[in-house]
Formats: sequence, C-alpha cells, structure tokens
Amino acid sequence: MVAGPSAASPAGATFFGLSGSRLRQVGVALMGIGLVLFFLSFVPILLAFNSFMQDPFGSAGSMFGSFFVSFLIGAIGIITLGVGGFALRLGLVRPVTGYVATEAAPAIQTAATAFGAGLREAGFGASGVAGSLIRVKCRNCGYLETEDAEFCSKCGQRM
Ligand SMILES: [Zn+2]
Repeated sequence: MVAGPSAASPAGATFFGLSGSRLRQVGVALMGIGLVLFFLSFVPILLAFNSFMQDPFGSAGSMFGSFFVSFLIGAIGIITLGVGGFALRLGLVRPVTGYVATEAAPAIQTAATAFGAGLREAGFGASGVAGSLIRVKCRNCGYLETEDAEFCSKCGQRM
C-alpha cells in the first residue's frame, strides 16, 4: 500500500479539522493570501504620499489613518502567512505519522521513528513545545496521541 497524500485518508489530521493534502492546499492558499495582503499594505501609504504631494496641509491628518491601515493590513498579512506556513508544515509532516498509525509493521515504525527524530534534529519542532505537535491518531478511538506514545492515553489501545 502506498501512503499517498489522500484527502480521504482517515489518518493524519488536524488543523481546524483539516488534514493531509487539504492541509497543504490551505497552507499554500493562506501563504498566498498573506503575501498579497503584505504587498497591499503598501498601497495606503503610497496613496497617502500621493495626496500629500498634492495637498501637504489638508492630508496631514489622513496620513496617520493611512499608516494605521497599512500597519493593520501588513500585520494581518504576516499572521496569515505564518499560519499558512504552519499549516503547510503540518500537512507535510502528517502523512508520515499517519502512515505509522495505519500500517503497524515494526520495521516501518522504526524507520518512521528514526525519520521523526531526523526531522526534529533538522529543526522541525526542535525542542519541547513544538516537538509535542507531531501526533498520531489512535486507530481505536481517534484520539490524537503523541508520536512516541506506546499506548493511547484515552482508551488504552496499543498505538
Ligand atoms: Zn484510543
């Protein structure tokens, strides 16, 4: 069986209920939107400069408004970009852990564990908090258990 990036896969999961390829699609889309917003944030400033050149005294007040709008759009853009990148990263990591959850062959599990350790060393969820983000779904109850857990902490099923 090939572990393809299938949206219908019950394994993998969840970032606001999204998983696998859908998660990657959303991640890329969010990053695109974030980039667009980031570039759009320069528009109010450019417009403000334009009106400032034409009417330096009348537009002084609206300059502040324009800078505020720019800052707001830019901040939303960067946050969207960050969330998109996070979702994309999750979407790329999930299929590996999801494969372990469905195919319990020890050899594969060992290889995947080594792969997971390699990912962590490579900076994917370096230490502590981020490392606990990699989770596998319990085959029995669907609970998202940590990657290195032997048993499901909700139902006790062997992972
Ligand atoms: Zn369980």
